[in-house]
Amino acid sequence: MELRHPDSTRSARSELLPFPDVRGARVSGPNCDLDIVIPLYNEQAIAPQLHQRVVAACRALSLSWRIIYVDDGSSDDTVPLLKKLARENPLDRIEILSLKRNFGQPAAILAGMRHADAAALVLMDGDLQDPPELIPQLVAEWQAGHEVVIPQRPQRKESSRLRGFAFHSFHRLFRQLSDLPIPENCGTFCLLSRAVATAIVDLPECHRFFPGLRAWVGGTPKLLSYQRPARAAGEPKQTLSRLLRYAGDGILGFSRKPALLLLQLGLGLLAISSGLGCAALGFWLSGWASFAAVTGIACGFLMVAGLQLASCGFLGDLLLRIQEQAKQRPPYLLAEHFRNDLPAAAAHPSPQKTAA
Ligand code: UDP
Ligand code: MG
Repeated sequence: MELRHPDSTRSARSELLPFPDVRGARVSGPNCDLDIVIPLYNEQAIAPQLHQRVVAACRALSLSWRIIYVDDGSSDDTVPLLKKLARENPLDRIEILSLKRNFGQPAAILAGMRHADAAALVLMDGDLQDPPELIPQLVAEWQAGHEVVIPQRPQRKESSRLRGFAFHSFHRLFRQLSDLPIPENCGTFCLLSRAVATAIVDLPECHRFFPGLRAWVGGTPKLLSYQRPARAAGEPKQTLSRLLRYAGDGILGFSRKPALLLLQLGLGLLAISSGLGCAALGFWLSGWASFAAVTGIACGFLMVAGLQLASCGFLGDLLLRIQEQAKQRPPYLLAEHFRNDLPAAAAHPSPQKTAA
């Protein structure tokens, strides 16, 4: 019997589509059990090894799977290489979404998530810092009932000490500032159930800090400890300026604390300045003019500084509220809906029967 790829006609057809859905929305494909989404930008040095290791990990699973590579505008041979590897094994379900240009890793992840429609979704970097061999463990936790499974690294090996220090400091700072309990030292690498993945994709905000959105939607995740290896080859592809912008998305999108801190600091200075004002008045009434002058001047300085800080904090909080409104996150998400499905007759007994 001839073995055919379940979607052999579909893939041929979708390559011919003159105008693929440019937002990356699903164009085809029945559900499978697991989608693996991998963003890639100029990773030709890693692509063959990555593909071989991801496919090997997936083949060990006893469920149906599909790998979705999202090419984020690579200018090297990443895509031709992946197409060649995919053609070599037509029974493996491999899809490649190519973005029009380099939009950055968060956009590439969103494109892959929008396209995915399986019962669960694994997101991972394509530089092999997220070991594909962990996929079966993630799946096992999902099958045990966890909706969000996140590998957590005790440390991360970075290409430079400065980069490692920057990541570490950001994670610590973010943990202090964030309004949500976001687990420390966790990146994009995770498994999401369909419900959680859909809820994240449906959030309409444009500055998307993925670990924040995942925590906002996903509740308490199951954490798995692992050693994060160094990049398999090449230099990190995320520029420092993009990483800083991403860090800003995280802090501004998930924390009211900086604005509240300014407000509290300003109010504190105003309280001290009013104490100094009273002291200056006391000195002046007691005839200690020089003390009164010094405390009066200090009171004036602190009052101006306090007023400025408090107004900045107040305006900051106001802007955050407006931003909150613009982000249009739903006010709540439902985790479960239980109904005791009694037959209608039992739930609402007729009056005659009740009387009898
Ligand atoms: N990446 C991407 N678009 C970019 C930069 C990076 O899709 O503009 C991909 C990259 O190919 C890799 C993943 O995102 O698969 C993580 O990138 P990188 O290793 O450079 O980031 P870091 O490890 O520093 O977070
Ligand atoms: Mg990396």
